[in-house]
Amino acid sequence: MTDPKTKIVQAGIGTDPAHGSIAPPLYLSSTYLWPNPSEKGQYDYGRSNNPNRDILAEALADLDGGAGAVVTSSGMSAIDLVLNLIKADDLVIAPHDCYGGTHRLLTHRADQGRIRVEFVDQSNTAALDAALAKKPALVMIETPSNPLMRVVDVKSICATVKAAGAIAVVDNTFLSPLRLRPLDLGADIALQSTTKFINGHSDIIGGCVVAKSADHVEQLAWWANCAGITASAFDCHQTLRGLRTLALRLDAAESNAKAIAAFLTTQTNVTAVHYPGLSTHAGHAIAAAQQSGFGAMLSFEVSGGLEAATRFCQALKIFGLAASLGGVESLICLPETMTHRGMAESARREAGISESLLRLSVGIEAESDLLTDLAQAFSAIS
Ligand code: PLP
Repeated sequence: MTDPKTKIVQAGIGTDPAHGSIAPPLYLSSTYLWPNPSEKGQYDYGRSNNPNRDILAEALADLDGGAGAVVTSSGMSAIDLVLNLIKADDLVIAPHDCYGGTHRLLTHRADQGRIRVEFVDQSNTAALDAALAKKPALVMIETPSNPLMRVVDVKSICATVKAAGAIAVVDNTFLSPLRLRPLDLGADIALQSTTKFINGHSDIIGGCVVAKSADHVEQLAWWANCAGITASAFDCHQTLRGLRTLALRLDAAESNAKAIAAFLTTQTNVTAVHYPGLSTHAGHAIAAAQQSGFGAMLSFEVSGGLEAATRFCQALKIFGLAASLGGVESLICLPETMTHRGMAESARREAGISESLLRLSVGIEAESDLLTDLAQAFSAIS
């Protein structure tokens, strides 16, 4: 069984030792009986290990080609978890246009004196080289970036990061391992917010960290248990259920995203469309080479500033105004006031996030309905 599509459907099927249920049973128990006081069974305490979490971790590690995975309570706890691999005062390099929550976490961990951080435009080789010369311990990579969909060359960045002696970490939330395989491209760690495409139904919050080396997996699992940030059994059960349809959902959403990106380029009140699938996108060639699809996320800018962007969001009938992504339903968000408001305004501007930038997470609804909805919203603001 080698095709990932087959693996994700089959993950955990037929693993019920008691009744042979097809879907894995949900093990809610927080604690487990010990055979005797000096010997514990396979499971002892739910924070440390749980059958549902183990099945999901195995499926996610397999999908990414890692030595193992740690399934966490959120994407943010997955990111915070990897910071345990470095020492106090070590330098972390992150993309200047990374997810706002990542920017906030790293900035505040640095303010606490836990780490040092520098945000760099990783598509600028000179800027990245200058940052790497400062001997970072860990480099975060996010491609396509959130929300500007900038694409960086994972293989070449990982090679320079490794040569500089740092740990290369890729946040693969936007694409999932079905579209980008960071570990194959040289990353040490691939992490994701499983809240998004992996679960795909906007009904859990979760994260996962997949590491290439068994040593990293062991350290990460130790810290996840120690800090109590492992995911709940219920969330793991739901996430495994969502994971089974990832391939179908991604195909459908990506096809819609492609049509929407093409449509947006024809609109007079759209000043820019950011979708790596467009041949005009600056990162198109790299995306085509390193990804196996362009994904279902895109962003665009409307003329008329914050006021027009706000009215556009409110005129939509199908796209929900919400700050998440990767679900079966289409969503729109205004990063300026929503996902990226935790960043300082100056940092937003430096990253190129304008007041009139809108981000779409394209779902699996009928393409014609989505296009009609966008068209009527453009009419409403014209
Ligand atoms: N990484 C990226 C790229 C994200 O977009 C998000 C959330 O939107 C996260 C991490 C954080 O994930 P979570 O909300 O599950 O904590």
